[in-house]
Amino acid sequence: MIEEQVRDRLNWAGNYEYRARTIEHPTSLADLRRAVAGATRISALGSRHSFNDIADSPETLVSLDVLDPGVEVDERALTVTVGAGVRYGVLAEHLQRRGFALHNLASLPHISVGGAIATATHGSGNANGNLATAVVGLELVTASGDVLTVGKGDADFDGMVVGLGALGVVHRVTLRIEPTFEVRQDVFTEVPWDAVLADYDAATSSAYSVSLFTDWAGDTIGQVWLKSRMDSGSDVPAQFYGGVPADRAYHPVPGVAADHCTQQLGVPGPWSDRLAHFRLAFTPSNGQELQTEYLVGSEHAVEAIQRMRELAPRITPLLQVSEVRSMAADELWLSTNYQRPGIGLHFTWKPLQDEVEALLPEIEAALAPLQARPHWGKLFAAEAAHLAPLYPRFDDFRALALRMDPEGKFRNPFLDRTIFGTTP
Ligand SMILES: Cc1cc2nc3c(=O)[nH]c(=O)nc-3n(C[C@H](O)[C@H](O)[C@H](O)COP(=O)(O)OP(=O)(O)OC[C@H]3O[C@@H](n4cnc5c(N)ncnc54)[C@H](O)[C@@H]3O)c2cc1C
Repeated sequence: MIEEQVRDRLNWAGNYEYRARTIEHPTSLADLRRAVAGATRISALGSRHSFNDIADSPETLVSLDVLDPGVEVDERALTVTVGAGVRYGVLAEHLQRRGFALHNLASLPHISVGGAIATATHGSGNANGNLATAVVGLELVTASGDVLTVGKGDADFDGMVVGLGALGVVHRVTLRIEPTFEVRQDVFTEVPWDAVLADYDAATSSAYSVSLFTDWAGDTIGQVWLKSRMDSGSDVPAQFYGGVPADRAYHPVPGVAADHCTQQLGVPGPWSDRLAHFRLAFTPSNGQELQTEYLVGSEHAVEAIQRMRELAPRITPLLQVSEVRSMAADELWLSTNYQRPGIGLHFTWKPLQDEVEALLPEIEAALAPLQARPHWGKLFAAEAAHLAPLYPRFDDFRALALRMDPEGKFRNPFLDRTIFGTTP
């Protein structure tokens, strides 16, 4: 076991300082079990890409960054089993070398599998569930230090995948995979909002994954990114609702060089080099941005976008760029897409925390009639009393957490505030 005082106390964005006193880096499952069994308060730390206090603990953090249980591909079952600390980009390269693929990736491949599934991290695509929907098995170290192995179909499995770190430390994850496929990425600029909003479902079904990048001001969407599967049998759209086909590579933030973005301009390539927006080889500098995201059901997609456009005078001055993506429904209790297909209204903010936090209640009030669910790993203002009615299985999750962790070993101020509705 490698144990250290938490010296580097910051998350990736540098906007949150962890309060835990120590961080442990187990090098084996036995080490991890001892760490959890011996702790009074402990939380799993992923790759620190969340923007709030979700991964913190009053006492100890445990990181799986040096615990490598290896990668096991089951070619017959079409699954891969990996350590929860592995980053998606590393896993993607491994799978691609073996001729396999994941169904989707988030915008950044540097995020850990354990951390991403715990918060229902997603990519885009009307038919694509979030990354947690690929999970078919979990091996968790529970509060007692015992190992619990659960699979899809087992009791409470659907409650355990998007676990917010509240149920245990996930040691290994088994994910559904498929044969590798190629993707091309095409960007259109200056796409008229009216044309897209008049035909929203069809517009966002134009490719395997569609992202709208906007600053909400004006009549056009800044950029639309279409990621098309080459094996889909559908033609790649040459036109997109009156937008201008890009003749050079774009970064989502206007004016930023596209060097760190995945290949565009319609050049086909492996899924592992196209589904994320940013390349793994590029190590992002820490921070210079904050993020927020709200997910609404697809029946409210157009209304939600219109409400954000109306708020543009308040939003745009604080914004680097927004991204609108779509996700399929799933059955994971605390998934932001639980039993509802929908869209995510994402905001990449300038690093102005006080101003952003002052604005969030206004955005949340505008989206409240549309039952918007905030992304668990990003900045939001809502607390348990507001969140509970948005999730039909919220009480079941609370009961599951209390049953699996009766002494509150994995509790932290984030969980107290957003799930249990108590102030520690
Ligand atoms: C630049 C950037 C781009 C992003 N892009 C996207 C995107 O495209 N789509 C999207 O949906 N989100 C996106 N996010 C948000 C990000 O995916 C989530 O915040 C995610 O949870 C971060 O994972 P992490 O490994 O950093 O986990 P952390 O932030 O370290 O932890 C998050 C949660 O996971 C839990 N956890 C971590 N490891 C384990 C484990 N082994 N067992 C149990 N619980 C665990 C923690 O306890 C905590 O509750 C982005 C964030 C950044 C900084």
